Parts: sequence; C-alpha cells; structure tokens
Amino acid sequence: MTKSADTHCPYCALQCAMTLKSPAVLTPASQPGSVPVPAEPAGKSPALNAPLLAAPLTVSGRDFPTNRGGLCRKGWTSATLLNHPGRVTEPLLKGLDGIHRPIGWDQALALVTTAVKDTRAKYGADAVGVFGGGGLTNEKAYMLGKFARLALGTSRIDYNGRFCMSSAAAAGMRAFGVDRGLPFPLADLDNASTIMMLGSNVAETMPPFVQHLKGARDAGGLIIVDPRRSATAAFTSDGGGIHLQPQPGTDLTLLLGLSHVVVHENLADTRFIEERTSGYEAVVRSVNSFWPERVQSLTGVPAELIREAARRLADGARKGGSYILTGRGVEQHVDGTDTATAAINLSLLLGLPGSGRSGYGTLTGQGNGQGGREHGQKADQLPGYRKITDPAARAHMAGVWGVPEETIPGPGLPAVQLLKSLGQPDGVRCFLVHASNIAVASPDANSVIDGLRSLDFLVVCDFFMSETAAEADLVLPVLQWAEEEGTLTNLEGRVLRRRRALQPPAGARSELWIMARLAEALEAPSTYSEDPETVFEELRLASAGGLADYSGIDYAMLDRGEAAYWPYPAGSTGTPRLFLDSFAHAHGKAVMTPVTPRRRRTPAANPDSGATTMTLITGRLMEHYQSGAQTRRVAELLATRPEATLQIHPAAAAGVGITEGSFVSVANERGEVVCRAELSTAIRPETVFLPFHFPELESANRLTEAATDPISGMPEFKFNKVWVRLAANP
Ligand code: SF4
Repeated sequence: MTKSADTHCPYCALQCAMTLKSPAVLTPASQPGSVPVPAEPAGKSPALNAPLLAAPLTVSGRDFPTNRGGLCRKGWTSATLLNHPGRVTEPLLKGLDGIHRPIGWDQALALVTTAVKDTRAKYGADAVGVFGGGGLTNEKAYMLGKFARLALGTSRIDYNGRFCMSSAAAAGMRAFGVDRGLPFPLADLDNASTIMMLGSNVAETMPPFVQHLKGARDAGGLIIVDPRRSATAAFTSDGGGIHLQPQPGTDLTLLLGLSHVVVHENLADTRFIEERTSGYEAVVRSVNSFWPERVQSLTGVPAELIREAARRLADGARKGGSYILTGRGVEQHVDGTDTATAAINLSLLLGLPGSGRSGYGTLTGQGNGQGGREHGQKADQLPGYRKITDPAARAHMAGVWGVPEETIPGPGLPAVQLLKSLGQPDGVRCFLVHASNIAVASPDANSVIDGLRSLDFLVVCDFFMSETAAEADLVLPVLQWAEEEGTLTNLEGRVLRRRRALQPPAGARSELWIMARLAEALEAPSTYSEDPETVFEELRLASAGGLADYSGIDYAMLDRGEAAYWPYPAGSTGTPRLFLDSFAHAHGKAVMTPVTPRRRRTPAANPDSGATTMTLITGRLMEHYQSGAQTRRVAELLATRPEATLQIHPAAAAGVGITEGSFVSVANERGEVVCRAELSTAIRPETVFLPFHFPELESANRLTEAATDPISGMPEFKFNKVWVRLAANP
C-alpha cells in the first residue's frame, strides 16, 4: 500500500506543495542500515512521532494556491537527493594531508568548542563568525541568531540572503516601513490586466508561477524588462505585451523615464498620492530630466515603448489591476536599493500599493528567503524583523532570552564585509557556515576561497561535500528537508509546514541539535531547544509586537492547512493583504524617496588585444538551484545542463572568431572563466550571460565584483566588465 506525506518543495520560495510517496512505511527502528538517532527528538508535534516513509520516495505536485499542482523539473526530481550516495553521513575532519576522515560526534563537538574558546581567548568574541542561509527553516534561522549572539557572544553573523533580497528589503522598509516580498497573495495576479516584471525570468526559475501571468498576457498587458529575450520575455510575443530590453545597469534610469511619463502625461493617481504618500514633489523633481528620448539614449529602450509601457500600467490600474514586480536582475546592483525604490515610486505614483486589486511586490528566491530575513540571522536585526540598534527591540529580546540587555552584541558586518574579514588581523578567525555554498555563490569568489583558506578553523554544516565544505577543517552532516520538522515562509509571507517523512542517516544531526550541544559545552546563557516546535513557540514570543509578528501562528493550525500570512498577532486572523488601510510607518503613509543613477567604478582596461570588452550579467537556469551544490548531484538535471555556457550575440562573437560551442575565455581583473559559447540573438550585442550554478573554471562569481550597495550591502552581480576571447580547449 502506498504511503504518503504532504510537504513543500525544498528549493525556491514559491514553495510548491507536493506529496512524498513510498511503497511502505517504516518505524524509525526498522529503517534498514540505520538506528534511531537523536537527530530530531520526539516532540510535541504528532508528526515527529509518526511512522516514516521508506525509500525510494516519489514526488507528485499537490494543489496549493501558488503552484496549483504544478512542479518544475527541480521539484519533480527533489527526492533523488534523499538517498544520494554522496551524502555526508558522519562528521569529517580534514587531516594535514588535506583528506577528510570520519570522526565521532563527541570529538567533533569538542573540536568546535575548543576552537571557539581558543579564538575568543586570543582575539575576542568577534573573531568567531557565523554565516547562515535563506534555506534554513524559520526555527533554525531564529536559533542561529540567538546562538551566535548569546552562545558565541559574537556580533559577526550574516547570511546569504544579503546576496539575494537585501536591496528589495531595504527599499521596502524605506517606502512602506515593512518588507514582505509580496504584500498580497500570489493568486491576486490572476485578475490583473497589466503586470510589469523587471529582472526576473520566472519561466525558468519558477515555472509554476507563469500561470499567474496568463490573465495579463491574454489582455496584452504583460511588460517584461530584461536585457535578454528570456523565456519569460518571449511570452510578450503575439500581442501578449511589451519586452523592454535595457542595457545592463540602466534599470534605474528606465524607471525614472517611466515615472516621467506618468507625471507629465497626467497619469498619476493624485488622490492616492495626496492621501497615502509623502515625498511626491521631490520625486517629481527627480524625474523631470528623464524624458523618454533622453532615457532611450541612456538605456537603449525606444522612447515610444517607454511611453507605451507607462500608459499600459496606468490603464491597468484603472481597469482590472496593475502590478509591478521586481527580481534580482534589477536589485543585485550597487544601486539596487535605489532601483527598487524607483520601482516602488512608480507604483506609488500610479496608486497601486494597498489598493486591493493592484500592487508592488518583489519575488523572493530562496526557499525560506522571506523567513530567513525575519528572525535574526542578519547582521543588523533581531527576531521579529527588529533593528538591533533599537533600544526597545533589545529590551524585548533580553526579556525573551532572559539575559541582560547589554550582553546582546550590536550590529555585525554585512556578508561581503564579513567574508572580506576572513583571516584578517581584526577579522574572523573561526567561522561556522550553515546552508550556504559561499565558495561558489559569493561575489569575487576567488578572494572568498582565499579567505576561507586563511582561517584558523572552518566548520561547515552540510549534507553534501559542497565546494565550501571541501575547504572546511570540520564538516558536520545535517538533515535534509524531508528528514526534519519545521516551518518556512514563502514569497507571499505565508508560513508553511515542512514535515519529517524519512529517517535520516544514523550519523546526521539537525542544526538545532548541534547548536544545543555546543551551547551546553560553552555554558551559554538562556536555553537552546532541539525540538522544532518548542523553538517555534519561542520564536512566536520573540516576534510578538515586531513587524514580522508570528505570535498567533502555531503548528496545529499549519497542520490543518490554515493560511497564515504575517503579521499574525495573537488573537488576529493574519494579514493576506498589507497596506489596505495604512502603511507600516508610524505616520501611516508610504514614503516616496527621490533617487538618481549612481556612477559605477571604471573597470580596468582590457589588456588583451584579442579580446572584446563586454558587460557580464549572471543568473539562473531552469535545471539548477543557487550554487548547484544540490542540483548538480541530480543526474536528470545535470544531464540536461551539465556545464556553464556563455550566452553571446552572434555579432559580438563573430568579431573575435567565436562560433557555437567553441571554448571561450571570460576574464577580468578578478579571475577567469573558461566554458563553451552559446550564440543567441536573445541577448543584447554588448552583453554576455553566465549562469552561476557551476564551480571552479566555470564559476561565474570569479568575475563578479564585491563592491556593495551602501544601503543594503548588496554586491554587484549584474554589471561587470569582462574581456571575452576565443580560448584553447581547457
Ligand atoms: Fe520547487 Fe520552486 Fe520548482 Fe516549485 S518552482 S517545484 S518550489 S523549485
């Protein structure tokens, strides 16, 4: 008899609902080759004590508002990794010969404890650093922030969401006073007559999302902004809408041009602006000099298309509804916060946010990218999405944790600065990495790898020997998604249950268990439960009264399938749609902030006369997720996309003798990538595209710059000068 467990996909923030099925159930004790382990304790949640499924598992899509039964090929194959032969199943210690060998958990935990104590004694507590991830459950993200600040006593914690959502989050905070990626349910898009999507290729990254664009497309109102004619941009063909194809790095200018048209053609919603916003006059002044013909000369987008896009947005707002959505393409820049702000300004001029049938939103990428930025693993935040410098927030957390307020460290270093500090005299010497493959996913990856190698002690928690784990002194094996209980928060701000369906390998442990044991060994103040539901109960208290208030949510209601959108204060029914009555600033209005394009650093001159200078943008493929540490291990996905290829326009390729499939060198002052060329007219002639899912010689982040947005700390992933030439076969 087939047995099943309902859960959600382990990958992106769409969190498609799925069912795991197996031909049989096993009690934990009957799992072949395994013994019951304290990876997850028997807890309050009934699911923790339920019979488990037997491998091999299969996956099927389940009806849910975001995916309506659909899954992408990553989701369909997601169970493959649960029994992967390359799984790390024991703690591994690197010897002097560079080879990792198994050791016991007692020895592993003792080594970490000693390294932390020695580092603190020698260099101070801030020489211990922690790096978290947007893939951690809410419970683990919460506990990681508490563990770092109280058990390790360090301020130096940040996470990989700094490379992902930080600019959009900063812009949302600035404009609305709160950052929830989509402040409305995704299904609201279905009825829109106009949707403008900037810098996101959902047709490849989140294929089930596309069904929510269909209404706007059928109405001819889909507007896609992307330097490439991506799979999503192609939906605008045959009357579906407009594709605006700006030069990389000019999105902010384009948005100012769109706002110029709205203001100067009297398309703005003056009543909404008057009643619900501040800062209008300054924004009008800031867009006055960005008339369409000038913007055309700066961005490459025809002036008539700029006018048409602005008019369609205004028309949609008056009819079925208009939405403006941003993604990483426009946010992962040194002016990413201002670019997202310009998109929000445009939406406010049109009266979209909080109107109930129109809006602005940003598309969170990582599986728990939303929850991951709410519970305290950011350098500048405490749980509940509170500022760490806010005295009231510090007092609240001191009360929840039962510690003196002054023992909670202040702000730490944002991710890029944290990674730059590795091994430096005043920097981090002992580093604990969770749910992140920073050796592949970080900007200027060669420098990051150098930093990892200069550490006194590197600990990586992972279930595979990722490129970062390979650098570690100690690798600690942790649980995969189907082996653990917990919650995640999807791109709508809806909290979901992750359910344990499978017995983990005997040697793997939950990060909660690891943190609890280490906290005990370090004689840390406060408590560190290893039971996910107990941690969630504490998270509810911690979040109460904060922006991301979870105090009214519990496991039982999530298990019943109730929709729980934060803020969800105790006694309320949650908030599917934000801003209907007021924005989250104290005065209740949305704040419009004037922004202007920022000059970028002048790149080094091309030293290679045989190469052509191009602008590199990086991004994702349908088959792979993040650094590819998981999806490169799925045979079906790797067979379809086994390697990185450089997308280049045929005209640019011909100039340097590059043909389809030839090996190319892509280099700049930071490093070199060698891969095959893929000729395509879908990309602008001065631009090349590399996916960032691949390591070593194909690692796109060898070329990206660690310059950061001064507000968000976001690095520059989407505008890097490179020299492209024909290469000899590697
Ligand atoms: Fe999983 Fe995202 Fe694909 Fe859905 S779209 S199946 S959540 S990777």
